[in-house]
Amino acid sequence: MSHAWGYAANNGPDKWCTDFPIADGVRQSPIDILPGASSYDKALKPLKLKYDPSNCLEILNNGHSFQVTFADDTDSSTLKEGPISGIYRLKQFHFHWGASDDKGSEHTVAGTKYPAELHLVHWNTKYASFGEAASMSDGLAVVGVFLKIGAENANLQKVLEAFKVIKAKGKQTTFADFDPSTLLPGCLDYWTYDGSLTTPPLLESVTWIVCKEPISVSCEQMAKFRGLLFSAEGEAECCMVDNYRPPQPLKGRSVRASFQ
Ligand SMILES: [Zn+2]
Repeated sequence: MSHAWGYAANNGPDKWCTDFPIADGVRQSPIDILPGASSYDKALKPLKLKYDPSNCLEILNNGHSFQVTFADDTDSSTLKEGPISGIYRLKQFHFHWGASDDKGSEHTVAGTKYPAELHLVHWNTKYASFGEAASMSDGLAVVGVFLKIGAENANLQKVLEAFKVIKAKGKQTTFADFDPSTLLPGCLDYWTYDGSLTTPPLLESVTWIVCKEPISVSCEQMAKFRGLLFSAEGEAECCMVDNYRPPQPLKGRSVRASFQ
């Protein structure tokens, strides 16, 4: 690629391997989760999530998605247990979504695509920082949550209201006192497998924890996601849609389920 990565025909997921050869690696994400081929593992513990709303710092349009970032200098917002050992700190959350409601998630379930997918990104505190952890095989743990069209989700409203300020690439604003646990489904049953970041540099450092139960989002709320822009202010407007990587080959990996 002679230009920055993105999701268009000339710089999208099919082209990422040019600059990031790990794109063809052995533990790439996302994947198509086949519930019938996943194995129930009774040794998998329930997730222990503890989030402090006062750690929430800002919301940013990074030109690929928008993300909400958290202070991660103490163990006040953490993920423990589940498939991981030790303490992982929340760094940020972001979403992937489609141009229409029939696509947009990165993981799929037996081929079923959801209109959006939330990613809560945590890093292993056995390393010194997110940056150091991001290249270690046990460095990151990402909780994935599918969004499904249904009732309006009141817990998303504060995020959606910030969009008018961060419409264009590079825009950011303070985003305080938000509890990301309000975005989790009621049931925390999950699938887990060893994978990667789904955006360049595609590092193979992620323990994926994908929740079985989706959360709801209304059509009108999904339309607001699609009003964000990939483009910066002053550039030709390009709507932020279809910012997802399609499923990658499983290459012999096992997918375990926390539930029967
Ligand atoms: Zn993501």
